[in-house]
Amino acid sequence: MTSSTPKPSFAVVQPCPCGSGERDARCCLPILRGEPATTAEALMRSRYTAYVRHDERHLLASWHPSTRPDAVEMGAERWLGLDVVDVVAGGPDDDEGVVAFEARVDELGQVATVRERSRFTRHRGRWVYVDAEPGSAPGRHQAS
Ligand SMILES: [Zn+2]
Repeated sequence: MTSSTPKPSFAVVQPCPCGSGERDARCCLPILRGEPATTAEALMRSRYTAYVRHDERHLLASWHPSTRPDAVEMGAERWLGLDVVDVVAGGPDDDEGVVAFEARVDELGQVATVRERSRFTRHRGRWVYVDAEPGSAPGRHQAS
């Protein structure tokens, strides 16, 4: 009873990093693999999961061409959790939507909170990220 062997991680059901409570295979992973997101919130969650998994390809693919950067810098940060705090439109029948979120990130031991109201629109039928809503104070705030 004293020794226990850790189970291999591939045998464990993984909860989705986005905090939805779903398994990742039923939540963000299909979107990371190229399936269209049905809602702006689902796309936003998949983009958070892409940051967690350092999936730059998905981040760029889900960015509107007019605002898309050439590359996404991902360093040593560790994403600790996501809370979606507000959703405006962005449903299956909408063409635009806003998702406000708070994400906690650990950068070399410094925990900060990223807050943003993200704007989404449809591009060729798919939800894409446009930018942060003006005045939504994008950026990082030290946790108190
Ligand atoms: Zn998810």
